[in-house]
Amino acid sequence: MFYEDCVLCPNMCHVDRRKEKGVCRQGDSVRIAWSGLHRGEEPPVTGEHGSGMIFFSGCPLHCQYCQNRQISGSDGENYGIDVTDDELASLMLSLESDGAATLNLVTGTHFIPSIINAIEKARRHGFSLPVVWNSSGYESIEGLSLIDPYIDLYLVDCKTLDKGTARRFCRTERYTDAVIPCLDFIKDRHGTTDLDAMKGTILRHLVFPGELEATRAFLRVFAERYKDAFFLSLMTQFVPPLGNLDFRPLSEDEYDSLVYLLEDLGIDNGFMQDPSDDDVLWIPDFTRDIPFPQPFADPDPYFLSLKHR
Ligand code: SF4
Repeated sequence: MFYEDCVLCPNMCHVDRRKEKGVCRQGDSVRIAWSGLHRGEEPPVTGEHGSGMIFFSGCPLHCQYCQNRQISGSDGENYGIDVTDDELASLMLSLESDGAATLNLVTGTHFIPSIINAIEKARRHGFSLPVVWNSSGYESIEGLSLIDPYIDLYLVDCKTLDKGTARRFCRTERYTDAVIPCLDFIKDRHGTTDLDAMKGTILRHLVFPGELEATRAFLRVFAERYKDAFFLSLMTQFVPPLGNLDFRPLSEDEYDSLVYLLEDLGIDNGFMQDPSDDDVLWIPDFTRDIPFPQPFADPDPYFLSLKHR
């Protein structure tokens, strides 16, 4: 019934998704773009064999820099396959039998009612993986309240708290109004992080090129409100989208200034990507069975059977 007057995200479209689509460009049937084991997430989420990812098609945000634009709808593309709730439940079970450390639900906000239905069905058949909610931080309290009882660990972005940066990179200033209530909601319920027990929250922040002051402002807010509650994952390797933004990588001096600021603010709980790391930068190609470079990902066999049916 939540699809009939949809307020699952801060866009608050109030559309009946059985008949029309809102900003996320999705109806009431689940659409997924890829599923399988992925070894590129933060270490506790990845475990020994990988995190069991399900990438949902569509997105309530249409960011300028989106790396998943084939599937997010940022440019009108809507790559993916439609699945029933029963198939989604079977996929969760299949990921567990693949050896996944976690079930990692990527941008599932606009399908929350179906995801809940599938988790409940899967649990009735023995599904027991910790559930990770991998989110942009653009959530409505209405949607979060529904999914929260099913979530063990949040892997949530705080892209920016600056309206100008939000306009430039996320294409909406509304992001900054939505993200703090979302984080406060999560902090109230998952404010103590124990990564060994797969509980709590990892808060991700990506440093946007040329927007270092916005990152500093975010870090000050993080130190004030969230540092005792959340782990921080500070990502410095912006992957430029296909030529639609000016891009200048973070300099060594800028990186060092962030390290000093973290020390000054007493933020010592988390992960920070080092730009000198020999990491692979890529934009996934979801039309392929393995959208990510090897050896980062293995597709789930049941997903492939659905994709090629
Ligand atoms: S999920 Fe968000 S964008 Fe999609 S229809 Fe509902 S309120 Fe609109």
